[in-house]
Amino acid sequence: MPELPEVEVLRRDLDKETSGKKIKSVEVFDERSIKRNANVKAFVNALEGKKITSVSRTGKWLDLALDKTDHLVIHLGMSGQLLKATPKSEDPDHLKVRLSFTQGGALLFIDPRIFGEMAVLSGEEFAATEDIQDLGLDALDQQISWAEFGRMLMSRRTKLKSLLMDQKFIAGLGNIYSDEVLFNAGLMHDRVSNSLSAQEVRRLYRAVIEVLQEAVKYRGSTLSDGGYVDLFGKPGDYRQYHKVYDREGEACRRCRRPVVKAKISGRSTYYCEACQV
Ligand SMILES: [Zn+2]
Repeated sequence: MPELPEVEVLRRDLDKETSGKKIKSVEVFDERSIKRNANVKAFVNALEGKKITSVSRTGKWLDLALDKTDHLVIHLGMSGQLLKATPKSEDPDHLKVRLSFTQGGALLFIDPRIFGEMAVLSGEEFAATEDIQDLGLDALDQQISWAEFGRMLMSRRTKLKSLLMDQKFIAGLGNIYSDEVLFNAGLMHDRVSNSLSAQEVRRLYRAVIEVLQEAVKYRGSTLSDGGYVDLFGKPGDYRQYHKVYDREGEACRRCRRPVVKAKISGRSTYYCEACQV
């Protein structure tokens, strides 16, 4: 599942490739991918002839501004992909929506498992959409003080991994980056948030920022399922820098002991028993 770094990489790609382009035609191949709009006709009419003026991001929602008034929002869900189509490229499997541009080229939305979606929202609708507005701290966009972060942690009594994955606490962290953050902070997944010392709070906050920034720098994580690719179909390189995630039995990069994998609340959790307390 794409997490914050992967969505930010796509945002940057989309901003470069689609800002300033005018949407000539829209084809919807599966109505389930545009379920927030009334029907296919309404979705198509709201897009055709509009210009994409900029591309921003709220948590894991991509937000393409249309003529500076409406919003084309996109969520990739579990398995969604956005690809730039070249004139020669064949339609990929599970193609759900194609936006073709007046200037040539097209943007494809592919989604095998249909947990993702595209929607056109007016400014008012955008502001009233809880899924988008009700998100926590965006660790790539909003810098807060570690003291403020400490207050956020102390106000909760939740195990750290669950808290890091809570979208209302921090937007965009999932299974991969919560494990990487906790390793970098030297903290175990089941530590309770209000038990952290001031030094541990600082380490955790620094780890959140550093891991996400590094992951964006290496263009996100593509695991062996190949699920995530950038706008040009290329995998991210950050998987090779993972310290624990998807490295069961391999040597910890700090102490050389084998990385442990455990199933916790139905999720795979990776950690080092020696380096995390
Ligand atoms: Zn270790």
